[in-house]
Amino acid sequence: MQTRFSDAQLADPDTASSEKILRKCVHCGFCTATCPTYVLLGDELDSPRGRIYLIKDMLENDRPATETVVKHVDRCLSCLSCMTTCPSGVNYMHLVDHARAHIEKTYVRPWPDRLMRRVLAFVLPRPGVFRWALRGAALARPFSGLLPAQMKVMLKLAPTRVPAASAVDRAQIFPAQGTRMRRVALLTGCAQRVLAPQINEATIRLLTRHGCEVVVAEGAGCCGALTHHMGQGGHDYARRNIEAWTDEFAKPGGLDAIVINASGCGTTVKDYGFMFRSDAGMAEKAAKISSLARDISELMTEIGLRAPVVQTGQRVAYHSACSLQHGQSVRTEPKRLLQAAGFDVAEVPEGHLCCGSAGTYNLLQPEIATKLRDRKVENIARTGAVMVAAGNIGCITQIASGMTMPVVHTVELLDWATGGPKNPFLGDEAARH
Ligand code: SF4
Ligand code: SF4
Repeated sequence: MQTRFSDAQLADPDTASSEKILRKCVHCGFCTATCPTYVLLGDELDSPRGRIYLIKDMLENDRPATETVVKHVDRCLSCLSCMTTCPSGVNYMHLVDHARAHIEKTYVRPWPDRLMRRVLAFVLPRPGVFRWALRGAALARPFSGLLPAQMKVMLKLAPTRVPAASAVDRAQIFPAQGTRMRRVALLTGCAQRVLAPQINEATIRLLTRHGCEVVVAEGAGCCGALTHHMGQGGHDYARRNIEAWTDEFAKPGGLDAIVINASGCGTTVKDYGFMFRSDAGMAEKAAKISSLARDISELMTEIGLRAPVVQTGQRVAYHSACSLQHGQSVRTEPKRLLQAAGFDVAEVPEGHLCCGSAGTYNLLQPEIATKLRDRKVENIARTGAVMVAAGNIGCITQIASGMTMPVVHTVELLDWATGGPKNPFLGDEAARH
């Protein structure tokens, strides 16, 4: 695609990066077929190619974002299915992140929308605040009929019982069982540890059982993805993590990997190098951290899973989170690990399509998100599975809100199969099949 940016515009590193991305797009439109919003809405402006045109026009002409641009960019899930499909290597993720930051700078949203975004950006990255917000949601549930649509969706997604905080999420070191083979840092995150603290617990048991010393680093927390993808920064969170892990890296034994068990966060940590590329004091450290980042399924594949010690064999529908399959190109590892743990892994039809979770998307665009969730749930039901496994808390919460079948994290099944406790959500029914 030809572009007409001036030298002055290209002096800005974000514009320079977007210009390179735009020039790679050859308008072929292959990406439209796999874009969930185009599949649902059938509007070219809700396809990757249509959005690329809108973003190009806005950036090239230095225009403030218009209502039309905001509408169609807001409807984008950032699922990155278009990046998997694109034969030209268009980095849509960096382009849309730049567009979102430009929108936040140049467009004044209606106040309810602004308020909602500010509240989400403040609450979700802070586990203590988020836990209290969920307790408030439980009290508000009986009055949900009186609330606006977005609030109703939030209440539906909120758990009926808020789990207590887990002791594993505090800064500490978990020694390896037997000989230490690796020293790894675990990102304990923010929203996940509130909604499903058992995921970090299972991850730590699994890793220590497989010879890893696991460090929960002082000062590390939210990866910044939620605010970054809303165009509201995220660099401060990322900076804290980079500093915390760089300190750990300097200690005796160093770090062999930074392990992430929420793939939405993993995609962002792997992108820290890009996010800080123009920051002279951070660029090198950020690039190092990104190079060490591994999804838990990647690290467990490198290590090799021990033989299962309990009778498995249940049929599991593996839901491939967009951030894992499209954002990190991690597709086969989780399925192979589940198979190695003895599970009968079922492919979900239309597995490339998003479940509608997409960070805060299910809260900000509830109608489209619910349609995608229902489509995902129907596809899962066709597999004949008795449980669902996924590698991202957003997907787990979203899919579980539309079905009664247990939806758990892949590591919970791997941990159970190799000697850990069974997730109580699985119940006897799933364990018997
Ligand atoms: S990120 Fe997903 S929703 Fe957005 S344009 Fe690409 S395929 Fe479509
Ligand atoms: S598939 Fe790639 S090159 Fe083709 S229109 Fe989509 S983004 Fe552009």
